[in-house]
Amino acid sequence: MSIKKIVKYGASSLREKSKEVHKISKKIQILVDDLYDTLYALNGVGLAAPQIGENVRVFVIDVGTDPKTMNPITFINPKILKKEGAVNSYEGCLSFPEAYTNVRRYKYVKVKALDIKGRPFLLEADEGSLLARAIQHEFDHLDGVLFIDHCRNRFEADKILTEKGLNPVDANYLLDEKELEEEIQKNPPSPEEK
Ligand code: ZN
Repeated sequence: MSIKKIVKYGASSLREKSKEVHKISKKIQILVDDLYDTLYALNGVGLAAPQIGENVRVFVIDVGTDPKTMNPITFINPKILKKEGAVNSYEGCLSFPEAYTNVRRYKYVKVKALDIKGRPFLLEADEGSLLARAIQHEFDHLDGVLFIDHCRNRFEADKILTEKGLNPVDANYLLDEKELEEEIQKNPPSPEEK
């Protein structure tokens, strides 16, 4: 359909709680098409509706790296049913151009959502997979939570945000994740983690 402009960090709508979808209307179908068009245009992994200016509970993910392995997954009214383990993840977000920082995530998630036809599905993301992280990241967007709220080092995050001309971390949104942090420190990082 069309490539949309990304809502950037600083916009108050990124902090809003999004509304449930009550009907898979034409409008929702167009929204999903726009999410994919925008995601692929920007070479992203996931994109949530609030990031293109629609505060509804919809996001899309594609962890495929080339056109042959494209694997688009649409999540409507998602619920995270189970989350386990902890992992450090070096993450960014299309709403924060070129800003990456270390965040805490669960290793594994089990999610329930509706697909574009309104059919419920269950999905278990492998431990430590990109899909598991992407689900948590995009799900957060629906509740107005941003990846920097999970940052492991507020000063590291502030430094990179400032360098990119973005507002620093807002302490009011920082999440207390003591258990996740302890769990991460117990496990040695894998080579791709920093
Ligand atoms: Zn994001």
